[in-house]
Amino acid sequence: MMSKAYLSLGTNMGDRLGYLNKAISLLKMQGSIQIKKMSSIYETDPVGFEDQSPFLNMVIEIETAESPFRLLEIILQIEEKLGRIRLFKWGPRTIDLDILLYNQDNIETEQLIVPHPRMHERAFVLIPLLEINDKLMHPALGKEFKQILSEIPKEKGVRRWKQIDGEDEFAHLES
Ligand code: ATP
Ligand code: CA
Ligand code: CA
Repeated sequence: MMSKAYLSLGTNMGDRLGYLNKAISLLKMQGSIQIKKMSSIYETDPVGFEDQSPFLNMVIEIETAESPFRLLEIILQIEEKLGRIRLFKWGPRTIDLDILLYNQDNIETEQLIVPHPRMHERAFVLIPLLEINDKLMHPALGKEFKQILSEIPKEKGVRRWKQIDGEDEFAHLES
C-alpha cells in the first residue's frame, strides 16, 4: 500500500544547493520512493543556535511503500552519505532530512515521532509545506497548518531564495 509523506530538507554548510540536489537524487534512486511535489527553496536565519550561517530549507511530498521506520533509516543513511556530522544539537549541517508527516499517522517511539514534534513552531517548515499543500491538517493538534502558521511569531526571516540558472531540478522556481 502506498503512503503519502512530507519531508523537510535543510542545509547550511558548503554547497547548499548541491546538497539539496544530491539528497533529492538519492531519494529518487530508492525505487520505493516517488517524489510528487517540491516546494521552492527558502533561505532562513538560524533558529536555536544562532551563531551559524543561514539555511536553505524546502519541503517535498513523496509517495512510498516504505514504513515510517524504514523511511527514517533511509533518510539517516542519506545524511550520512552526504557527510552529516552531529557536533552539537541544532549545529551546522550539510543536510538534515526530517519526516514531517506520514499519512495522518501519530507515531511516538524513542526513535521516531510523527508529526515532527517541533514542526508546528517553525515558519521555515510551515511556509514551504503550505506552498505544496495548503489544505493539510496537523493530525495531533486537529488544526489546519494554515491556522497554525498564522498564530506563530515570525520575527525570523524566511525568504524565497533566488535560483541559480541551469539547475533543472528546480527549474519551476521563479527567477
Ligand atoms: P530537530 O529534530 O529539532 O529538527 P535535528 O533535525 O537537528 O533537530 P537530528 O540530530 O537530525 O535533530 O535528529 C536526532 C534524532 O531525531 C534522529 O536520529 C531520529 O531518531 C529522531 N527523530 C525523531 N522523530 C523524527 C522525525 N520525525 N524525523 C527525523 N528524525 C526524527
Ligand atoms: Ca531538523
Ligand atoms: Ca533531523
